[in-house]
Amino acid sequence: MSVWYRFTRLTVWLLLPLITCFSLSAQNSDIKNALRLEKLDGYSHIAATTIFHWNTPSNVSNTDITVMIEESGLQNDKQSEGVIFRHLLATSTANDVDSPRVPIFVKEPLLDKHWQELKALTPELFAAAKAYYIYARAVNDFDGSSLRINETVPALRRLKLEALDTGSKKATAIASIWLAMELNLANPIEAINELEYALAHLPHYSPDKNLQNALSKTIAHDWLRDAYLELFVPSRAFYHSQQIIDSKKQAGSTVVTTWAFFSAIDALLVQDSFNDALALVEDAIGYVSKVNSAHEKLLIYVQKLRAIVFQKGEGYESSAQKVMEQIRQLDTSKMKERTQELSVYADALYAAVLNDEAKFNDSLQQYKKIVLAKTSDSGFKEKIKLKMELELSRLYDAAGNYEKAYEHSQSYNKLLVAKNTEQFKFSSSNFTDNLAEDIELAHYRQKELASLREQKEGLSTDKEAMKTTIFVLLLTILLILVLWLWVAKKQSDLLAERDSLTGALTRRAMLNSLKKSLKGNKTSSIALLDVDNFKKINDRYGHAVGDEVLTTITQIIKNRIRKSDKLCRYGGEEFLIYFSDTDEKSAKRILDELNVALSRQKHWNGTDEKFCVSFSSGLLDVKGETNLDRIIKACDDLLYKAKRGGRARVASLSF
Ligand code: GH3
Ligand code: MG
Ligand code: MG
Repeated sequence: MSVWYRFTRLTVWLLLPLITCFSLSAQNSDIKNALRLEKLDGYSHIAATTIFHWNTPSNVSNTDITVMIEESGLQNDKQSEGVIFRHLLATSTANDVDSPRVPIFVKEPLLDKHWQELKALTPELFAAAKAYYIYARAVNDFDGSSLRINETVPALRRLKLEALDTGSKKATAIASIWLAMELNLANPIEAINELEYALAHLPHYSPDKNLQNALSKTIAHDWLRDAYLELFVPSRAFYHSQQIIDSKKQAGSTVVTTWAFFSAIDALLVQDSFNDALALVEDAIGYVSKVNSAHEKLLIYVQKLRAIVFQKGEGYESSAQKVMEQIRQLDTSKMKERTQELSVYADALYAAVLNDEAKFNDSLQQYKKIVLAKTSDSGFKEKIKLKMELELSRLYDAAGNYEKAYEHSQSYNKLLVAKNTEQFKFSSSNFTDNLAEDIELAHYRQKELASLREQKEGLSTDKEAMKTTIFVLLLTILLILVLWLWVAKKQSDLLAERDSLTGALTRRAMLNSLKKSLKGNKTSSIALLDVDNFKKINDRYGHAVGDEVLTTITQIIKNRIRKSDKLCRYGGEEFLIYFSDTDEKSAKRILDELNVALSRQKHWNGTDEKFCVSFSSGLLDVKGETNLDRIIKACDDLLYKAKRGGRARVASLSF
């Protein structure tokens, strides 16, 4: 077996557990992630179900929703999505006073970090959940007033930018359609732009609702159709109706489809495309024949009647009669307001065909009454009146009363101009000024940048300040150290300069100092002193008393000489005195005085015996002499002379 083979086998054996561990942990995190996404799907479904069905009579009851929420464990979910969806559900019914609220309570504040985590997990659900949250909160804050758009529109625009940053087209489209919904309250043209922008990437309609598909492609088409009709762009309205009809994903929503047929035909009639309208009517009849709803059938039959009557093709009267018979066969006993309006409209139109003026006028008045009754409690008064004027003009036209038809078409135009003027006034004050808005955005970004920069600068000045503080601190420590060393040195120097017993200068310090003083070339004197018979004192009274004698003599001398003079202990019981600016005579006088002062001292601490001490000295007037050795030698000679002369005296000489 080769060494290489053995090495490879060993490596594989060693690496195997590592690889297994790694792949197991990867698998583990994959499973965790999948479970979390599944949980998010559940929350999204619960949120959509709550929004659409809570407190609303439908096939899903409040109890069903409560059970769903309990089973999901949302109330105790500690992860970010738990916080988000608790807030979402609580907000959805926060303002409900008379009806029950969703049984969930918010435990902690909803923060940006929670949203950021959801965004990283699934940008689509993030966009949908945050859009709904922005909308629901504003509805609560503004108590349902459309003034809320001042808050929702900018917030949803920011959300759209955030969604764009994720790179998810679907997330961006979702943010966009929520923005369009709010924009439509102020500016239908901008809303149209937003919807057309989002359309391609919006989710398809699904009866199985979640937050992401709550506003689907179908709804966008429906809103677009509505908006284009309102702006009198029937070709675009027709296109979007057609899109809904063509969509095969319409399961579970017949009303939307029938309504799409109705409005598509309407759009064709406005354009006088009667043949196309009639062809579409046949499609629509094929569709509604499978639907068990008199109302939906009536919608389509009325459109058929209108297409026939407006076209006034050959033999249209008999075709009209056939349709009218179909209409009358419909069970309209449980008529809704809208159905009543349609059937009265049909009556009027058919009376026009029959030239039955009385019936025409009667049905027309009824129609007007029903429509005007709707305006009393509607937020869409202008829109309803506008539509009514258009229909009245068409009805009179069908009846051959062209004067009245013209009158109503004039009213229609007047109302249209007024409505558009109002709308543009509202919208221009809000959102049409894109330039200003972009500038504001740029301004905002700059502000943000500036504040970031300030923060950074703040940090760096903090750093600078810290550096300075540390520097100053170090400098202070250094200074204290230097000072301390200096003082210590000074003290040790001082100690070195002073004699430990008497405190007088040491010989070395004195000689150094004299070298300088003598250079000054001034009159000065130097005396060398020696205590007389000191040995005897020591012998008789002890060394301590000897020491006391030495300190006493030092004290007496120090008290007598001037500051400019200097005293040093030259040896055992010998002292050297430097008298500055002093001639021999003066110095001698001082030395004599010192001996007198010393002789008066008879009491000593170290002994009860009384005795007095004297000293002899050799005094020299230096007079410009700078050689210390010669001076000291001369002093010493003089001192010897004084000792020989009988002690307790001064022997002096001038150089
Ligand atoms: P003289 O008058 O001739 O100078 O006689 P003296 O006894 O003073 O003779 P000498 O100068 O020879 O003696 C000095 C003595 O001083 C010797 C020594 O024991 C003593 N002595 C030197 N230093 C000290 C000291 O610090 N303390 C004490 N108590 N005695 C000292
Ligand atoms: Mg001596
Ligand atoms: Mg002596």
